[in-house]
Amino acid sequence: MAKPNPCLEVERRRLTVRGVVQGVGFRPFVFRLAQRLALAGWVRNESGEVTVEVEGPPEALERFAGALRKEAPRLAYITAVESMVVTARGNAAFRIEPSVVQEGRRQPIAPDVAMCAECETELFDAADRRYRYPFITCTDCGPRFTIIEDMPYDRARTSMRRFDQCRPCLNEYTNPADRRYHSETNSCPTCGPRLWLAADEDHASDPIEGAARILVGGGIVAIRGLGGFHLAVNATDNRAVQRLRDRKQRDEKPFAIMVRTLSEAGRIARMSPEEARLLRDRSRPVVVLRRRSPSPLAPGVAPRLDSVGIMLAYTPIHHLLLQAVGRPLVMTSGNLSDEPIAIANDEATRRLAGVADAFLLHDREIVARYDDSVVRVAGGTPVFLRRARGYAPMPLQLPVESPVPLLAVGPHLKNTFTLAHGCLAYVSQHVGDLETLETLEHFRVCLDTYQRLFGIDPKVVIRDLHPGYLSTRVADELQLGPVFPVQHHFAHIAAVTGEHCVTEPVIGVAYDGSGYGDDGHVWGAEFFVCDVTSYQRVGHLRYAPLPGGDAAARAPWRAALGYRSLISERRHVFSRAFDGIAESELHMAEQQAEKRINSPMASSMGRLFDAAAAIIGLRRIARYEGQPPMELDAVCTGGAVDPLPFPVVEAADGLLQLDPIPLLLALDDVAQRGEEPGSMAAQFHESVAVATATLVARVAAEHGCHTVALGGGVFQNARLVTRLRELLGAGRLAVLLPRALSPNDGAISYGQAVVGAARMAAAGGM
Ligand SMILES: [Zn+2]
Ligand SMILES: [Zn+2]
Ligand SMILES: [Zn+2]
Repeated sequence: MAKPNPCLEVERRRLTVRGVVQGVGFRPFVFRLAQRLALAGWVRNESGEVTVEVEGPPEALERFAGALRKEAPRLAYITAVESMVVTARGNAAFRIEPSVVQEGRRQPIAPDVAMCAECETELFDAADRRYRYPFITCTDCGPRFTIIEDMPYDRARTSMRRFDQCRPCLNEYTNPADRRYHSETNSCPTCGPRLWLAADEDHASDPIEGAARILVGGGIVAIRGLGGFHLAVNATDNRAVQRLRDRKQRDEKPFAIMVRTLSEAGRIARMSPEEARLLRDRSRPVVVLRRRSPSPLAPGVAPRLDSVGIMLAYTPIHHLLLQAVGRPLVMTSGNLSDEPIAIANDEATRRLAGVADAFLLHDREIVARYDDSVVRVAGGTPVFLRRARGYAPMPLQLPVESPVPLLAVGPHLKNTFTLAHGCLAYVSQHVGDLETLETLEHFRVCLDTYQRLFGIDPKVVIRDLHPGYLSTRVADELQLGPVFPVQHHFAHIAAVTGEHCVTEPVIGVAYDGSGYGDDGHVWGAEFFVCDVTSYQRVGHLRYAPLPGGDAAARAPWRAALGYRSLISERRHVFSRAFDGIAESELHMAEQQAEKRINSPMASSMGRLFDAAAAIIGLRRIARYEGQPPMELDAVCTGGAVDPLPFPVVEAADGLLQLDPIPLLLALDDVAQRGEEPGSMAAQFHESVAVATATLVARVAAEHGCHTVALGGGVFQNARLVTRLRELLGAGRLAVLLPRALSPNDGAISYGQAVVGAARMAAAGGM
């Protein structure tokens, strides 16, 4: 028998690769891999995936399939590879074919990525042709989602399409051995975008040098970045920081700062290895760290807090500017308070005219608006405070597949929306508070982009239960299909269980500011036994009136007054909470609480933190959302403390109730004795953790449920989460915490989508 001719043993396979595989250098990687293994065929982007056909000896094809996953580019995220044998064609070479556009296909898109180490080396190498070029990128780094207009990801469908590559750039683009082979953002000083400084007085020839001079001199510079404009000032110059606060109308809310290197960050703040890893992560979030004392930063950067939000430079512009300035910069979003971040040159120069002294502009258009993401580490794990640039729109899984495409419009404040199809949920970046026309417009534009890019045409809309929210009106006005409400705190818990793909019943603890309850009261400290379709409310914080309604959210003294109205012997109680509040205002609020005029009943944990901050004399008026609990956390002294009485009682409505009156009276007692705020704050945190664990233990025993999901903005509090986890763990309860999404209202839309999909699936479709 003749030996088989190895040349005849040729097979051809078609591989379909799904996940984040476009805009990450995947085709060049496939090309090089095929060359290395001497395989013929082609690779191309299709709207939904990357398709590869490879032809060669079966053994080489096996190695190809293995390496496809193992050696994939750093930015790729492969969710599935399908393989089928097709007829061999006898091709001799391997090539990259033009992209194929298919209607109605969905495809995750890579978020923007910080400049890579290779590009950074070139940026500061005087011999490199991109020396000090502010738009240096390669297949491993640079803008992605902020510049994509449509899919599939090709230069022609990004805002880079107006820049034709010059000969040397094209050579890189077409050379398989080059790092910039098929890099769609490839450009150089000859052919790429330009940077310039628009300033009243300064006409420096080098825009970076000019901007740096203004910053060092105490000026405010608006800088066009990846997802929008930043406003920058010298972070060590308190007068400059104060001028920025005055002009931006931002009283005391902490500013984030930017530095170039990890060691510079280390001089400003302490960090754990996990925090250092997050700082260096290619998504470059703002990481909230413990500030060193004494600090080189101006006190106005983060008044009265022991923390500071730091991010490392992520674009070449940042690197050049920080190198020229030689000190940390405040980098805050380029907007006035409560407006969306500006993205276009004319929009920024118009809207920020009264704020910035100069504008560092460029002509690479920003297609999608993205704020910086903000994270902190609690108990060793990252917790999102805001999920935006670098993370959104990476999809999350739904625990139950949605029978129809759906849109969840999210909450009123800290809005995000979620588009879901099948098992995938695309959670939008932070949109903002749906209170202004500008934010509403941002919502619509963003939704439009997502629908187009992901090819999702929702047939069902999920909204909050609150009849008066703007998001509720939007849900109706979109006229996409039937609209279903989901209760706010149930959505908080479903967001957590959904992320963990848990569909069995859990004990849900939702602690936040406020949400509309199904009894018409304001909810905000709720205990549920629930799965992903329905919930039973089994406990809550005792209701108290909130004199002034929404006004109480920014006035901790009002929350304290609401609690005082529940106490019969109350003449001198909580007196520290009302120091400096005008007699007439106090009297009117008292009347409101007494007669229940404009005083909704609320079970809000956020307001209980407010009341505590007021009663111990720490804060009576809040200058920004979350200030009282942040300061309460910041002043806490270390070491173990005993809890104050915070009893769990069985209430008239048959539910378990946390009664905060004994706790607040005990706090008031120690406050009157002149105790330090630090130890009182620590006692307060301990009391909340212990009472919560006690109530959960009772529910666990009664319902035979041993998994606890924690959701809601109050769980951004690292001290509370860490302690509660200890206590629940000691009671042999498994604890689920948010991972990819924030505990706060940024997760509500995903929670709504989880419930919406599960309910529709249970009902057998729509
Ligand atoms: Zn690079
Ligand atoms: Zn060029
Ligand atoms: Zn909430």
